[in-house]
Parts: sequence; C-alpha cells; structure tokens
Amino acid sequence: MSFEIRDRHLLGRIGKIKTKSGVFETPALLPVINPAVQPIPPKKMRELFNCEALITNAYIVKKHFADRAVHRGIHKLLDFDGVLMTDSGAYQILVYGGVEVSPEEIVSYQEEINADIATILDVPTGWEVLREHAQHTVKETLKRAKELSRIKTRDDIVWVGPVQGGNYLDLVAKSASEMGKLPFEIHALGSPTPVMEQYLFDTLVDMILTAKMNLPLDRPLHLFGAGHPLMFALAVALGCDLFDSAAYAIYAREDRYMTEYGTEKLRELAYFPCSCPICTRNDPKTLKETSRKERQKLLAQHNLYVCFSEIKRIKQAIVEGRLWEYLEIKAHGHPSLLQALKRLKKYEDYLERSSPVTKRSGLFFFSSAGLTRPEIVRHRKRILANYSPPKEAKILVLLPQTTTKPFHKSEEQRRLWKTIEQEIAVKVSRIHICTYAAPFGVVPAEIDEVYPLSQYEATVPFDAETIDYVAEQIENYIVKTNYDRVILLENSEVWKGKIAAACKKACRKRGLPLTMLKTKPLWGKNALNKILKAIQETVV
Ligand SMILES: [Zn+2]
Repeated sequence: MSFEIRDRHLLGRIGKIKTKSGVFETPALLPVINPAVQPIPPKKMRELFNCEALITNAYIVKKHFADRAVHRGIHKLLDFDGVLMTDSGAYQILVYGGVEVSPEEIVSYQEEINADIATILDVPTGWEVLREHAQHTVKETLKRAKELSRIKTRDDIVWVGPVQGGNYLDLVAKSASEMGKLPFEIHALGSPTPVMEQYLFDTLVDMILTAKMNLPLDRPLHLFGAGHPLMFALAVALGCDLFDSAAYAIYAREDRYMTEYGTEKLRELAYFPCSCPICTRNDPKTLKETSRKERQKLLAQHNLYVCFSEIKRIKQAIVEGRLWEYLEIKAHGHPSLLQALKRLKKYEDYLERSSPVTKRSGLFFFSSAGLTRPEIVRHRKRILANYSPPKEAKILVLLPQTTTKPFHKSEEQRRLWKTIEQEIAVKVSRIHICTYAAPFGVVPAEIDEVYPLSQYEATVPFDAETIDYVAEQIENYIVKTNYDRVILLENSEVWKGKIAAACKKACRKRGLPLTMLKTKPLWGKNALNKILKAIQETVV
C-alpha cells in the first residue's frame, strides 16, 4: 500500500491510497454494503456516485456466503471492481455479545475472499463500561494485533490496526501508541455508537485527537461508524481520512432524510432542501406515496448524494485553505458541534504544531471560537517566543487598528509617521509603532505585511472573549519586551477600556511610565499632535 498526501489544512489531508485493486482518494466515505440486503447494489454505487471504495463485513459475508465468497472472491460476489475493505465483525460482538468465529479464522477468511483492506477481529470498548472492561478490550485487541503476523499468509492485503479505549483517554493513548508500533498500514478508531447518536462531539474530539497524537501521522486513520455528513468536516479537520457509512441505509429504512446539517423525518418535510436527481424528480408528498421498498432505495440514494457532496465540499475547503472557516460554518448548525469546536482550545498547541503553514487565502474571523485556529496561535507563540523589537526601539507606541491593512500603509499611520519624521528626525529609530488588533493582538509595524497579519477580515464589534484575548496579548508583550516607555492611543469605544487596563497592569509590573491618550475624533489632527507631543516629551 502507499499513502500519498497531496494537500493539507489543519490536520485534514487529501491523499491517495493505493491497494492491489486500485487507488482511491481520501478523505473517503466507504458506504457499508450488507451483502444480504442491498438497497443500492455496489455496481450502481460506482455509476451513481463514482464510488471508488466500499466496506463490507467479513463476518456477515462468512455467515451468509461462506465458501461461495471464497470461490468467487469478494469483488465478484459483490460485483464491484474497486477497492473493497472488510470489517471483521467486531461491531457484531458489541451488539450480540460474541461471534462464532475465532480471531484467526476471520483473518484467514479475509485473505481467502481477497479483501483489499482488512481488519483484525478487535474487541470494541463500547460505552459506559467499567475501566477494567475498557482495559481488557485494549489489551485483548493488542494481543490479537500482535498475532496477525503469525497468522497472515499474504503480503498484498492492507491490514487495519484498530485503536480502542472508548472515552478513557489514557487507554486510547496507550492503545494508539502500542498499535502504532506494529506494522499496520492503516489505523482505525472505534467510536462508540452513543458518541455519534447522542452528538457527543466534544468527546469525539478528545478521542480522535488522543489517538492522533499517539499514532504515526503518515498512516491513514479510519473512523468507525461515522456516517453522518454533519460531522465529516470536524472529523477530517482532526485528521480522519476514512469513514464508513451504514447510516445512509439505516436512516432510509426509517424514512429519515439526511441533510448536511442533520436529519429530517420524511413525513415532516414539505420541501426537499436538495437538488440531487432523487429530490429533483420527487417531492416529499410523492415520495411518501411510493412503495416502501422503492422509497427506501430512493432515500438511501439521496442520503449518499448528501454524504458524497459533503466530502467534496470538505476537499475543496482543504484545497483553498479554508477548512477552519468551513468548520465554523458547520459548528453553527448544531450546538454540540460548536461545543466540539470550543473543545479544540484544549488542543490548540498540537493543532498549531501539526497544521501546515499555508498562504492560500485570507482568514475570516467571526468570533472568539476562531481564536484557537493555528494561524492565530502561531502568531501569539512567535511574538512571545521568537520576536524581538528593533534594537534601538525604546518607546512603544501602541495604536488602534485601522480599517486599511497593512496598518503601516493606512492613511492614519502614514500621516503620523510623516509628522514624526519631520519633527524628531534623528531619533525616529527609538520609536516603535505597533498596532493592537483583533484577532492577532500586537502587530509590530515592520512585520504587518507578513501573512496573515494583513490578510484577514474580522467581524466587529468584537465579542468579550476576543477583547480580553487581545488585551492579554498586549499585557504579555509589554512584560516580555524591554521598552523604556509606552504610549497608548486608546479607543475605548471598541475595546471597552480593556486595552488601557492591560497596559496599566503591564507597565506597573515592569515599572514603566505609561502615557494614555484619548482623542476625539480618534485620528483627527488633534490626535496627531497629542501623540507627537507625548513622543517629543520622551525622546529628549
Ligand atoms: Zn437529494
């Protein structure tokens, strides 16, 4: 197998997985095919959705087709010439409490039916289980994973090493780091069904990122049981490359209609908010009157159209470097998703370290939820750890942000700079102009053109957390630098006095003189004179 990554944003990536039966692009949704019941036959999946890879359950195949699947091979049996992944039946263990096959048998069977990607018989942790049980599932899954090399006879099948541990994060970490040492080419995270069904997406963030931080990053990660387009963007942004969806068919059986933001009951719909061929040719009323079997087929098709379109939207967002913006848009589709987005704060360092530096598009800053995004965390870290003001600069002049960016090219700052140069020519190098702005905090004039410090749009008025954040950045900046004096042009209308308070606090800590200027209008001639006067008094 090979996994080639072409594009990245956040932890999300567009890649290609090469198997013995062909190549498919990730992030990929693998529809679950139940060989016994197929509302949409695999061949049709290819025709309708250009689906390159499917997943089926080796345990169910064995139960229903036994040797027939061995003789014909899984591709012929399902009539699909793309990539076929098999799951082992672990889910059935969880639901029915045991299967009549041994871990060895299910490994051999997946080889015999010629799967392209196969899964060892792991032991799913489940939900609301005792720690002892969770520990046992991790241990037993690892034991079976280690036995794989002894049992398997072929080298052309890609094996999946599942990570267990449920919501015991220390166990997830252990499971992932041990599994990551074994020669698996793909890993999978067992996500307990309640996490998805009850929209516990913040828990999911913890689980995925804990696994991710402990697994080799160059191996694709499959998220088991994540079949709803509502959360694909979140999972992709956290580094999941593969999903399987049985939900498209299960929902269809229950007359449930998927949208990219949630699920609707068919009987409650007056209109179809979708333009797929099914929704174009039908309206809710005609579909409700269709026979049950036909209705299920059509709903399953619609559900898959929605899923595949969502994957494409996510890929395009990765290409454009706008996956964060897309996450924020999705997060406002459901409170649980916004909660999950807020949970990312806990992992902002890891996200920043692992996200590529891209310069493809300007940022959109909507609210304080965006303060976690890697570009903002990166600026904060750089300013505090790596940045030093110009050597001779001893007077910090803090100016409020202007509408024009880069700030030093704004009419306001150019006028001020010109006056300063005229009036105090020889000592200008002692003056350092920095702008305070949301969401970045302190933006020194000489770097304000560096991406993304002038390539962004922010929503005003800022929310309270954003104002607090910028104030905190200013305080930290003054404390860590070595100026002799600070001059602040305040804009209390925007910053509610928080910037002034932060400056006061920082200057008190450092024992620095602080000149605070309030002017009306903010950038009028009067303002220029006041700033100039304050500077003149200090440069002597
Ligand atoms: Zn549709």
